[in-house]
Amino acid sequence: MSTFIVHTLGCGSAKPTPRHQPSCTVVEHRGNLFMVDCGEGAQLAFMRQRLHLSRLSHIFLTHLHGDHVFGLPGLIGTLGLSQIGGSLTIHTFEEGRIALTSIFDTFSRNLPFEVHFNVIRPEEAVIYDSPSLSIRTVPLRHTLPAVGYIFEEKPRLRHLRRDMCDFHGVPVYMFNRIKAGEDFTRPDGTVIPNHLLTAPPSPTLSYAHISDTVYMPDLAPRIGPVDLLFHETTYLTDHAADAPKRGHSTAAQAAMVARDAGAKRLLTGHYSSRYDDDEAFVREASAIFPNVIAGREGLRTPLD
Ligand SMILES: [Zn+2]
Repeated sequence: MSTFIVHTLGCGSAKPTPRHQPSCTVVEHRGNLFMVDCGEGAQLAFMRQRLHLSRLSHIFLTHLHGDHVFGLPGLIGTLGLSQIGGSLTIHTFEEGRIALTSIFDTFSRNLPFEVHFNVIRPEEAVIYDSPSLSIRTVPLRHTLPAVGYIFEEKPRLRHLRRDMCDFHGVPVYMFNRIKAGEDFTRPDGTVIPNHLLTAPPSPTLSYAHISDTVYMPDLAPRIGPVDLLFHETTYLTDHAADAPKRGHSTAAQAAMVARDAGAKRLLTGHYSSRYDDDEAFVREASAIFPNVIAGREGLRTPLD
């Protein structure tokens, strides 16, 4: 069972359509839920995905366009009704903090949980750090300040070879230290090297969320060889001339970023309402980068 899953809740763009709702993604890591963008209707999509509000503790906004933000007042209101305690941290620019504080003060007073703001800037920085996961921002180029988010697992512990530990008489209280890489010294002074007691750890996994942005050839090395890259694919090549003017990318450009970063897979989305064939995005991207997943509402993409 995967411990790192990307849930696509909304993969439309500014203008909603009957097929797609505005931007929202939930990254599930070891049971914790991290929401990236919260377009209108996000809370309903969250429930349809059978995710639990009590597991949601961080929301990351990429930028302050309504199709990425307008779901927040509704979501916060529902959280207020659900009597969930604890805290929720919203990562956004200073302008977002000011606007959202005013909205929550008006519509969601006396919440039974704390809302914290982590004010971010359009620059590269680690903004979340836990023993198992770090999340960093990368600046993007859109029609107003925007960042992408890169989720990277910390190195995992080595796997214990229980038979070898028993054979060499390693006491149970030493197991965590052995998993962390320590050698074991027997009472007679003999040192048992760690590689005889453990197997290499599972590889770490990573996810990059890149929306909204023009095509940035210099972005690939800053993303690196992630296991899954979501990169906005607002347009097809037929509107390649419009894409930079409106601060967006084409499917082919997203594929170039995936290819140049060395990503394992590319997830599409943020589709312009002018198109009604999502597979066309996959066709264009696949001509450049082979491993393309068509984003759609309700899609669940495990990373391992
Ligand atoms: Zn935007």
